[in-house]
Amino acid sequence: MRYRTILPTPRLSIVLRRVGVAISVACALRPATADADAHAHAPPRAILRHEHPARAKAQPAAPKKATPSKPQPTTKQPVTSTGPRVPNELGRIPIVEWHQVVDADGTYKVSRERFRAELSELHARGYVPVNLSELLDKTMNVPAGKTPVLFTFDDASPSQFRYIERNGTLVVDPTSAVGMLLDFIKAHPDWMAKGLFCMLPAAEAGHAFFGNKGIDGQKTEWRFKKVQFLTQQGFELCNHTLWHAKLNKYSDAVVQEQLARGAMAIDSAVPGYTVRGFALPYGLWPKNRALAFNGSWYDTKSKRDVRYHHEAVFEVAGGPARSPFDPAFNPKSLPRVPLQGGTKLSATLDQMDKPGKWARYVSDGNPKTVAKP
Ligand SMILES: [Zn+2]
Repeated sequence: MRYRTILPTPRLSIVLRRVGVAISVACALRPATADADAHAHAPPRAILRHEHPARAKAQPAAPKKATPSKPQPTTKQPVTSTGPRVPNELGRIPIVEWHQVVDADGTYKVSRERFRAELSELHARGYVPVNLSELLDKTMNVPAGKTPVLFTFDDASPSQFRYIERNGTLVVDPTSAVGMLLDFIKAHPDWMAKGLFCMLPAAEAGHAFFGNKGIDGQKTEWRFKKVQFLTQQGFELCNHTLWHAKLNKYSDAVVQEQLARGAMAIDSAVPGYTVRGFALPYGLWPKNRALAFNGSWYDTKSKRDVRYHHEAVFEVAGGPARSPFDPAFNPKSLPRVPLQGGTKLSATLDQMDKPGKWARYVSDGNPKTVAKP
């Protein structure tokens, strides 16, 4: 899969400042077509070890006839993820990461069946979606005994969000990830539409705000409507660069252009939107790490300095994240749980049900107190 540049028309209501001196951005952004590595996603660095199901699942006992003398030993109730949980708001929170949601599992792909099953598993095991802003602001309000989960969707492909035209109106394709997630929420009213879309506005193969140029039946003019729809539902938006550039191999100027234009495109779709998160393409940091958080780029068209600021930066892997109440919580490097061919959600969740460093965050139901184990 290769991405190329399709430039959105920027509307400059973003935090813009006139500056006297133009920052020279002599090196024009190379279209991703020339960027052979564009989106040749390297596999995530850390694949979670699969937990061996040593936790004996109580097998349904075959009906026994005649149990004469020996009394049955009282077996201890196994720890299950559906049982009562002791509040621990210093525990871990999974930030799960999906890319394409398609026919079959693969690298950076999960099947639609698997996506639905993962939503069901998270729900059944007591997880409740939260938004990035609630995590950063420490305002998560999750019922007692439940654990927050942050959904992240990378790369803005049509597989995540497709429209179909029905009698002149646009409806969300129920087989796209957004369609499946919204249907799931409708059927499970204890979940709300929360999650983070780390988007590319100008990449090829339809990865331009969820589709363009008829790819996967998606019209270019639907792009902004989709981004707006997401925020109207309650989801949040995140930067993922302009066209998925490998930031470690570019100059400071190009890094800033990629990030400023990514933020500017979001602002064009949803004027005034504050982008708080940024997902590193391929998990690669720019040589100058500080530029992942703050920077600016001089837009010669409008003769304005476009600035960006990211409070949170997402890695591509690393396991469940620390609680924002944990003194070691570091929003500048948030690990994630990648879900794709070769990884298993249940392995991570099983680990989180055990004591240890990955033990899950369990809410006490009171957002004003922090329950410590
Ligand atoms: Zn990506």
